Amino acid sequence: MQRILIVEDEQPIRKLLEYNLKLSGYETISAADGEAAIELALSEQPDLIVLDIMLPKLDGIEVCKMLRSGGSNIPIIMLTAKGDEFDKVHGLEIGADDYMTKPFSPREVVARIKAVLRRSKTKVEHPEVEETLLSGPFKVYLERYEVYLHGEKLDFTPKEFELLAYLIQNKNRVLSRDLLLSAVWNYDFAGDTRIVDVHVSHLREKVEKDTRNPQFIKTVRGIGYKFEELDL
Ligand code: CA
Repeated sequence: MQRILIVEDEQPIRKLLEYNLKLSGYETISAADGEAAIELALSEQPDLIVLDIMLPKLDGIEVCKMLRSGGSNIPIIMLTAKGDEFDKVHGLEIGADDYMTKPFSPREVVARIKAVLRRSKTKVEHPEVEETLLSGPFKVYLERYEVYLHGEKLDFTPKEFELLAYLIQNKNRVLSRDLLLSAVWNYDFAGDTRIVDVHVSHLREKVEKDTRNPQFIKTVRGIGYKFEELDL
């Protein structure tokens, strides 16, 4: 049975998470402050941590940083409150695997946990297989999150990388914004698709010679995007 560490000082939310995760077949352990979270993470080695940001003693960001700098790679889903000064990209940069904004539905939490566990499981089970994608001048290393264009390494945020990898995996296919949102951001509900457009425009700035006339990431009007493989 997989064990989830829930770190949340607000008891009603903690109880709600415990209840719903148990219902979904997980074992749970809980901590109500940052110090206890680190102790439990190290002594119990849970399969995943749901980590609130606003916590007594040490906040969630400190907890995440300390675990990562100590070499722990337990998957972490951060919980943020609406209005928190928390930047999504920042969360991923400090080593969190995903984040959720409160209030959330229990169903959504369980779906995210499953998705993150699935991703981390594939990583652990196939560490020796370096999966790569090739398309024209692009070479994508899926495990390392690295992209080379004409042999030169590009810098991406994790989500930009995932979006580009998904586009290349589905090259020459028209992909709707909703599909991209659910595939790359794991949103199983109609979310704000502008996040897709923003990431596409960042990607274009990095990979296209002329962002007004993109060669690779084409806009399909009224639908979404398509990665076009060049015939070389
Ligand atoms: Ca809290």
